[in-house]
Amino acid sequence: MAKTWYPVIDYLVCAECGTCAAKCPHGVFDSAKAPSPVVKNPEACIDHCHNCGNRCPTGAITYVGDNTSWVPPHGTQKSKETGCSCEGHCC
Ligand code: SF4
Ligand code: SF4
Repeated sequence: MAKTWYPVIDYLVCAECGTCAAKCPHGVFDSAKAPSPVVKNPEACIDHCHNCGNRCPTGAITYVGDNTSWVPPHGTQKSKETGCSCEGHCC
């Protein structure tokens, strides 16, 4: 349990695929709002877990309290700048 560690969604980058809400086994996301990712229970998030961020296809998830060198494995810097999830295909 950690109130100092929980996911933050960049909605300009999020593609609303629903993966994060579907794959978190700890009920952090509001299942009623899926596939839109809404963090409902941040206190249930597991300290230093990057599971949802590692699965996010657009790199939209970062973490409050993250002092590791972790970076989202998917998505591009360009898509983050433009808010487009094309990963370089259209812009
Ligand atoms: S970091 Fe882990 S525990 Fe926290 S919301 Fe993501 S999958 Fe769930
Ligand atoms: S996994 Fe990423 S793109 Fe998919 S809903 Fe979650 S934050 Fe959005």
